[in-house]
Amino acid sequence: MLYADSCIDYFADRQTSKSKSKMKQLFSGAIMLLICCACLQAQNMKHVKKVVEELSSPAFYGRGYTNKGDSLAADYIANQLKKTGVKPIGNTYFQRFNMSINNYEGIPSLKIGQRQLINGIDWVAYPTSPTIQGNFPLIWINKSKLTSKRQLKELLASDLKNSFICFDSTVINNKELYYFARNLFTTLPFMVRGIIDRVESPKYSARRYLNEYGTIRVNKEFITPDVKSIEIDLVSDFTSDYQTQNVTGLLKGKTDTCITLIGHYDHMGMFGEALYAGANDNASGVAMLLELARYFKKHQPHYSIQFIFFAAEEAGFYGSEYYVANPVYPLEKTKLVINFDMVSTGTKWTELIHAELYPEVKKQFMTINTTQGYIDYLKPTGYDDTSDHYHFHDAGIPALFFWTEGGNEHYHEPLDTPEKLEYPVFEGIFQLVVDYIEALH
Ligand SMILES: [Zn+2]
Repeated sequence: MLYADSCIDYFADRQTSKSKSKMKQLFSGAIMLLICCACLQAQNMKHVKKVVEELSSPAFYGRGYTNKGDSLAADYIANQLKKTGVKPIGNTYFQRFNMSINNYEGIPSLKIGQRQLINGIDWVAYPTSPTIQGNFPLIWINKSKLTSKRQLKELLASDLKNSFICFDSTVINNKELYYFARNLFTTLPFMVRGIIDRVESPKYSARRYLNEYGTIRVNKEFITPDVKSIEIDLVSDFTSDYQTQNVTGLLKGKTDTCITLIGHYDHMGMFGEALYAGANDNASGVAMLLELARYFKKHQPHYSIQFIFFAAEEAGFYGSEYYVANPVYPLEKTKLVINFDMVSTGTKWTELIHAELYPEVKKQFMTINTTQGYIDYLKPTGYDDTSDHYHFHDAGIPALFFWTEGGNEHYHEPLDTPEKLEYPVFEGIFQLVVDYIEALH
């Protein structure tokens, strides 16, 4: 439960009443404690959900590279820190930096036969794709084309530069053959114009470089071996000096040594009119950090607490890479880093990633969780480089990562929206982290 201490204060106030018997006081105090905690808990979850809804709303354009949605989200977070009383380190909450990024102008279009595919749902361009406009024949690559000498010879003798290749499932099911073929056709001298990835659900991303060929992800329903050509209009807007920023602030404890709580706020932005709301990924992690900030502002911990909201995670963990190379608060004063990325699902399990690398830390977390029963399925796991924490670990700073699984299967799709989130373990993670930090001296 959040803000338990306020309930205890309330309980203590109730105890001073002289007009009632001691038993009655205790009884009514206990009831009030329960009611008070439950109502504060509901209020805090209401605040968490409000933050997730706001950051996922069209006002932030998917917190990416359309209309500077990332910077709008950074301003929002800085305002929240200010409101809470978390101070900037130095004179600003922002650590600005420049990077290259690819985005797409206007409304991209893909037509297969007479059918206009829906952006973000039926198809996306992988963001390393350059500008591609026109009609292109499709060459289907099947196993026999790769394993029959004659067929392969014929294929390689033809001019592929104006074609897209598409892999049928007999090749996709053989990973090694698939990657061999993919590399063969996307490198000189056989470089094709593009590749079609036939997938269950097209997932978008963000990238800081361009390939010379396109990669188009199409829902398998629309791309079958009878399809002979595609019509595409995709205009890349690549920039080499896009300015973005990490956001960071500090709550002073009784010592300068700090625990650093991190989570990325960026997402992919938009692909044409498709908005990537990124409610679970990672408005939920931002809401967790802001809620922890609100708690620790009222309950000063022994260690100082730094909060870092990273930019450019989706573009290859670049915000955290930049930060670790240019720390705002001395890394040698950082005792532990805890990352929160996608924490509003968790009907299957919650992973405490990197816990296996730090047995003592793992023991403390697992003991608290077992004693208090906060999270039903908490799984400690090993090394992982799929979010921002690993740059800290690689720099020699212990770093953990909370990640939840089960409940929202729309990772990197426009369907990662707030109304799908159930927050089954959000409060459990919150309370576990609070207890762990409060037990440290
Ligand atoms: Zn994420």
